[in-house]
Amino acid sequence: MSIQNELVKIAKQCYDTGLTVGTSGNVSVKEGNMMYITPSALPYNEMTEEDVLEVDLTTGEVVKGYRKPSSETPMHTSIYLQKENIKAIVHTHSTYATIFACAHKAIPPVHYTIADIGREVAVAPYARYGSEQLAKYAVETLGDANGVLLANHGVVAVGSTLADAYRRAETIEEVALLAYGSNTLQSVNPLTDEELDEALEGFKTYTSN
Ligand code: 13P
Ligand code: ZN
Repeated sequence: MSIQNELVKIAKQCYDTGLTVGTSGNVSVKEGNMMYITPSALPYNEMTEEDVLEVDLTTGEVVKGYRKPSSETPMHTSIYLQKENIKAIVHTHSTYATIFACAHKAIPPVHYTIADIGREVAVAPYARYGSEQLAKYAVETLGDANGVLLANHGVVAVGSTLADAYRRAETIEEVALLAYGSNTLQSVNPLTDEELDEALEGFKTYTSN
């Protein structure tokens, strides 16, 4: 499967599983010095591999593709340029995670699977969508974690493959739902530091091969 095809497959999966609504969200993947990214404002059910944009990470210029690149191109390029090991990014506005982002509350470690992301999912300060400022805040707040919330906006999940970034976008939404639900039961019980350390250790070798 071509890299463009794989990108469109993951973007459509975000839509089909409800992680994104309407034309919100965007997906990219890095290969060498190039980034492949979804187009801006194009409905997911119309998207094909011809709609994917190829962007030179050094110049930030579109080198291939006729569509308008995602408005979040600055955020995607900034992450790749500053985080060497990241090769794929999934950005969504998934509902429960975005509730935490709107409330300016980090998603707490109420479920061990958060260890695939980090010790919590922190919230980057608000900046207008598509802005360089948002890109800066996202990179800073992401740190060494595999996901971050964007205040009053949504979720960014990262990985060394598209499958990893997608799985983490799903996990962030799931843990947000569980934290929200625990809070409605008035009994939020985050893992202790030791329990988190154990789970983080486990995730270092949690792979299918
Ligand atoms: P694009 O359609 O331009 O990718 O924008 C969607 C989005 O989520 C902006 O933050
Ligand atoms: Zn967005």
